[in-house]
Amino acid sequence: MNITVVCEHNKFMDMEEGKKAYPEGMGVCLAEMLKETGNPVTLIRMDEKGVDGLTDEILNGTDVMFWWGHMHHGAVSDEIVNKVADRALRGMGMVFLHSAHDSKMIKKLLGTSCSLKWREDGELERLWCVNMAHPIARGLGEYIDVPQEEMYGEPFDIPTPDEMIYIGWFRGGEVFRGGCVFNRGRGKIFYFNPGHETYPTYKLPQVRQLLKQACAYVAPGIPIKEDVKCVHIPEWNIKN
Ligand code: ZN
Repeated sequence: MNITVVCEHNKFMDMEEGKKAYPEGMGVCLAEMLKETGNPVTLIRMDEKGVDGLTDEILNGTDVMFWWGHMHHGAVSDEIVNKVADRALRGMGMVFLHSAHDSKMIKKLLGTSCSLKWREDGELERLWCVNMAHPIARGLGEYIDVPQEEMYGEPFDIPTPDEMIYIGWFRGGEVFRGGCVFNRGRGKIFYFNPGHETYPTYKLPQVRQLLKQACAYVAPGIPIKEDVKCVHIPEWNIKN
């Protein structure tokens, strides 16, 4: 299985807190984590100029793609969005992390605004598992604590997920559908909310295990069909 990580680099990552959380860079942290699955991983950088180096060759060889973005969603060209979404509908697994809820890509695939409530306070998030038998949650117990995280709260404007696995709880009383799977076309999409760039969430052993299990779960079970074209994609949400 070939894994591709598209990870944004932004100004917060160059500030003290960002460097403290990920001295090596968040993208490198995610790539190293996924290499522990024994599969090859390609790391692609996104910044204010857009996505750099995601060639057709890399995309067409990708079985699972991880996507993390925050400030620079608008810099991602519609050409890239269309190509990646097309491959996702043909069977490539997608994992959207944290502020990738606001990416053009997820809005295109889910067809809603994916807006949410947020508060950057760096407090505890407790992710309660609501589907203990799910392969993504295997061996992880009833809940996962992320000691410092940005609050993401409901209402979260997503379609009803095909599978709910985690609901996040925050000290402000908010709850959030923080771990859910959507089936689109022949592909699977997993969204996971933890992972603000100034907190070292992707260093937590339970989160790493969860994301590796998510990678295996969304991986195509059958060969990706090259000739299926993506359909039913609304245009309105690509432009905002
Ligand atoms: Zn954030």
